[in-house]
Parts: sequence; C-alpha cells; structure tokens
Amino acid sequence: CGIVGYIGRQEAAPVVLEGLTRLEHRGYDSAGVAVLGGRGIRVAKRAGRVRDLTGSLPKRFAGTTGIGHTRWATHGPATDVNAHPHVDESGRVAVVHNGIIDNSAALRADLTGAGVELASDTDTEVLAHLVARSDADTLEGKVRDALGAVVGTYGLAVVHADFPDRIVVARNGSPLVVGVGDREMYVASDLAAIVRHTTTVAMLDDGEMATVTAAGFITMRHSDLATTGKTASQVDID
Ligand code: GLU
Repeated sequence: CGIVGYIGRQEAAPVVLEGLTRLEHRGYDSAGVAVLGGRGIRVAKRAGRVRDLTGSLPKRFAGTTGIGHTRWATHGPATDVNAHPHVDESGRVAVVHNGIIDNSAALRADLTGAGVELASDTDTEVLAHLVARSDADTLEGKVRDALGAVVGTYGLAVVHADFPDRIVVARNGSPLVVGVGDREMYVASDLAAIVRHTTTVAMLDDGEMATVTAAGFITMRHSDLATTGKTASQVDID
C-alpha cells in the first residue's frame, strides 16, 4: 500500500516512520521498516498501526539507509510475519512491495522445490528470494533477474547488505517517486510521504527502475538496464 525509503546522513528509521504516517489515510493493516547499517539489515514489522511499530522498535536500530511499508493485505492475512519488509533466508536482502505478483504461487512452488523455506504467506516474499538467488554481480542485475521472473504489478524498493550504498526501486503499475535532497535521497509511493523534505522529484514510469544513492539517482529500464536518463524537477504543492 505505502512505501517510503531514505538514504543519506540521518538515521533512516525516524524519517521512514514519519513518512509512513503521512500515508496512513490510504488505509493499511500492518507496518514495517528495514534499516541497513554497519551490521547488515535489521527489520521491525508488525500488524497494526505505525505508532505501534514505532513504540516497539528495538533500541539499536541504527542505519542511514532504510525502507518502510504500510501493508494492505492481498495475499495472506494481516499478521506480523506477513508484514513487509520481506527478507531472504540470509537476511541480506529486504524488499517492500505494493501491488500483486500474479504468478507467486508458481514461484513459491519453484522456490520450495529448490529448498528455500518461505517464511510468510505473501506474494511479495518471492521477490526477496529471487533477488538473493540471482547470480548477477550488481544489485540492479539481481533486481532485473527477479522482475524478469514475475508477472504482476509492483512498486518496490530493495536493499541488499552486499550493496550498502544504494536503494533500488522499480515500478510496474504502482507509483514510485524519487526525491532529491542535499546529500540525501528519498523514495516513496506517494509524494505526500516526502514533500516536507523535498519537492524536487522524479516520477518513475512503468517498466522503469532507479538506483538511488545518497548522492543522486539513475533511472533505467528493468528489462535490460538501459538508461532512461530521467532527471528530477520541481513540483508545485498547494
Ligand atoms: N500483495 C502484497 C501483500 O499482500 C502487497 C500488498 C500492498 O500493496 O500493500 O503483502
């Protein structure tokens, strides 16, 4: 339902959680956040309100890169385990996703057949395992491979502990914006989540993904990673 991400100089979790509260009016049943810091990825997620999540965050939840989600369940009930972010078995990949993966049942069966233990009932979780299992040597290549296997709609954000300087986002049928700050960058499914930080934004098109670092962003097609050269521009907010 809602996605917010941050990469920059500040602690990510408070920025992400505050952004998620700005999307609460859209409705949701669960919330979660993943931060990427020196010790890898940490995830906190639960059914219920963003403020319940905020109140239950572990004391040590440090990291200047983070992604968060408010979930409107389509596949699997509103439980703590089904809340996003979803991680792979190693815990080195975390994914938040809006939309529906139509072929998730087949992909879950393939993954189970390959020995992967799925933790949740969601369609989304397959994305984390597919990214983790790709043998591409860049995060963009891993996300391209994962998206090549899925059929469905998505706005998504991915972090990977082996590529700690970036968030990769992608869009197909579910909105995603990249917001530009001063040595810090934002991503969101809705401008409302980040507008207090920046109004210099780029909206992804369907079929597009972006690499977002603290210094900037690059857009590309997720089918072949060819650059699409999108730049950010100022939006007017009433
Ligand atoms: N289909 C996903 C799920 O059920 C994402 C739902 C959403 O867009 O919030 O977890």
